[in-house]
Amino acid sequence: MPDVSAAAAAPEAAPPEAAAAGGPPGVFADLVGQDEAVATLRRAAAAAAAQLRQAAPGAEPAADPGAGMTHAWIFTGPPGSGRSVAARAFAAALQCASGTGCGTCPGCHTTMAGTHADVRLVAPEGLSIGVGEMRALVLRAASTPSGGRWQVVIISDADRLTEAAGNALLKAVEEPPPRTVFLLCAPSTHPDDVSVTIRSRCRVVPLRQPAPEAVAEVLVRRDGIAPDVARWAAAAAQGHVGRARRLAGDPQARSRRDAVLAVPRRLTGVGAAFDAASALIESAEAEAAASVAELDEAEKAALQTALGAGGTGRGAAGALRGAQGQLKDLEKRQKSRATRAQRDALDRALVDLAGFYRDALVAALRAPVAPVHTDTAALAEAGGQKWHAEGALRRLEAVLECRAAIEANVKPRIAVEAMMLALWKG
Ligand SMILES: [Zn+2]
Repeated sequence: MPDVSAAAAAPEAAPPEAAAAGGPPGVFADLVGQDEAVATLRRAAAAAAAQLRQAAPGAEPAADPGAGMTHAWIFTGPPGSGRSVAARAFAAALQCASGTGCGTCPGCHTTMAGTHADVRLVAPEGLSIGVGEMRALVLRAASTPSGGRWQVVIISDADRLTEAAGNALLKAVEEPPPRTVFLLCAPSTHPDDVSVTIRSRCRVVPLRQPAPEAVAEVLVRRDGIAPDVARWAAAAAQGHVGRARRLAGDPQARSRRDAVLAVPRRLTGVGAAFDAASALIESAEAEAAASVAELDEAEKAALQTALGAGGTGRGAAGALRGAQGQLKDLEKRQKSRATRAQRDALDRALVDLAGFYRDALVAALRAPVAPVHTDTAALAEAGGQKWHAEGALRRLEAVLECRAAIEANVKPRIAVEAMMLALWKG
């Protein structure tokens, strides 16, 4: 059962007026707990606007042209810290009529809504962004901005570029067209995530994991979630803004989390460990299937309509063969997207589980730190007493090793089974 009601009944509920404080309006409002990055981006947007004014006929020459503005940026930070939110907000500020990211002018509005003609977002369908997609994008990005300001390209998972796609991007970043800006998002600037050569051409905007208080504040202000539920969800999501919103609003997300947090007390033997592994994998598969099913169907229907069903004239057989090729192509892309969705779902479950053992470790050490999962805090404390700090740490490490193994392409089932056995043995 979802346990939000328990959180809602917590005695230390904040007074509702805490919600009314709110942040400043404008496109950066949803960038939670990132004051430093926002200041950098505001300065750059102002510099970019000044650059455009100077380029206008009859303008005074700038004292320091281009200060604070550059053509390629990398937004780094842990998942959920708001990398793509930051990139989109910056894109809006660049397209903003006043150059500030006011949030109300057409430039801001269409960029935030995803319909601005000069802002392109690349999000990988599968596990990687291919060279064809990147070449097409670079080509279009070189054109003159139709709105007279900037051509902005946002690459939401730059760590998923194939090597060839990275090279295609590098050429564009090395010799950028005068009005083109590339915004890359990646977990870090480690060479595994972004090539050293691309990194060397970009300015880095590091985002931090936002504090639970900041996440809770935005859930209350933006999404209208009750303050006590928002606080519970923000803590449980460990700084991941999107995940916190889902936990607060989606009962299914809550019951999946409950099932994950029930794992530690179910590990009573080898058989139970394998059962727990199967349950975790199957739950991730089901979650992923549900998340892509609707999109898959819609894409397939759209393609079938575009290809035109039926047809009996001359050449119909050839057209049919071509259509089947396109359908196969689509199915291949959808399969790759499903794989990625499964990995993401499994990773979320592992992060929840790691939070439980982290709570046990904190309890064993009697550290004055708030638990991640308030609703299983008593269980974690009991675990901490039984396992002591060393045992809790070994279990936490087993979860983190499982994440690393899956990241390194170990088959998820094998990695999860090994983890469950390690958690049981302790
Ligand atoms: Zn604006």
